[in-house]
Amino acid sequence: MHETGMCDEIVEAVLRRAGGRRVAAVRVRAAFAGHEADPAVVEQGFRVAAAGTPAQDARMELVTEPPAVSCRDCGARTPATDALALVACPPCGGVDVEVSGDTGVVVESITYEPDVLTSEVRS
Ligand SMILES: [Zn+2]
Repeated sequence: MHETGMCDEIVEAVLRRAGGRRVAAVRVRAAFAGHEADPAVVEQGFRVAAAGTPAQDARMELVTEPPAVSCRDCGARTPATDALALVACPPCGGVDVEVSGDTGVVVESITYEPDVLTSEVRS
């Protein structure tokens, strides 16, 4: 996982949705296995990537959750809390597993700075 590229993606997605509005806060949901990403590093990367954009002062909230792994052997669906669970099913040890759901980063919500013209601009 390359945090820098990921942060660029997050900032790009935020700016696309913001459409020039000033961003007050961003809530990002990311699916990571184990310790692939350090939230502090991600937040710092976000700061760097957002510098000079309408999102530069945005407060970033990073919600991490493990990706789900489905096992074709026993049918178990397990949250992959460590890297090992991505290659072998924790309940049965089977290796015919599939990582499902989002394994990337999703911009869940964006809060905009109150605009002088419109009272409520919340996404
Ligand atoms: Zn299994």
